[in-house]
Amino acid sequence: MYLFDAHVHTAESSRCGRMPGAEVAEIYAKKGYSGIIITDHFINCNTRADRNAPWEEQVAVLMAGYKAAKARGDEIGLKVFFGFEGGSEGNDFLTYGLGEEWLLKHPESAQVPLKEYLALVRSEGGFVVHAHPYRRAHYIKCIRLLPDEVDAVEITNLCRPELDNRLAKIYAEAYGLPATAGSDAHSFEAVKDFVIGTDTPIESVADYIERVKQGRLTLA
Ligand SMILES: [Zn+2]
Ligand SMILES: [Zn+2]
Repeated sequence: MYLFDAHVHTAESSRCGRMPGAEVAEIYAKKGYSGIIITDHFINCNTRADRNAPWEEQVAVLMAGYKAAKARGDEIGLKVFFGFEGGSEGNDFLTYGLGEEWLLKHPESAQVPLKEYLALVRSEGGFVVHAHPYRRAHYIKCIRLLPDEVDAVEITNLCRPELDNRLAKIYAEAYGLPATAGSDAHSFEAVKDFVIGTDTPIESVADYIERVKQGRLTLA
């Protein structure tokens, strides 16, 4: 089985991230992973980007952790892909399938209200996964489910308690939404031995999306 993680943060781009991108690649390679997706916090979330800087500079900060991880991953044989985690009022959504070129052309993506954001990225070919939908925290205004506005649900988030994941699984099943998993690792201690398993290596973000849709992943 090939190991994969679809939800990982770096210190270069996420304010809460504790692992430099290159070291992220190293620890995942050491644990025997085939690939990972770096999903740092989007510009309107817990980013290291300066919101007053020109948009290109903000995008560069968002991409920095991924680029460092990818450069090291290329050297040591770990596939590293790009995504980002954006949202509003504490509700988080992982966006996959849109890259640097798209971001540079869409500064409004960091300004629009949540529902418009979800509609925008999905209309542009993005694939949206509701991350830890039942998470509770001081900064989260409320649990908010948008089953018609997402493509899949993170039913296993390895940073969340069992109850949150149990409810997320029921949510995904009730609405017929595809399921996926993520470690949501911000620190080396949070890097797990198993998150997602596949029968063949995941070769691209598009490949990952296709397998989520088809339910072809073994989840932690
Ligand atoms: Zn974070
Ligand atoms: Zn996260």
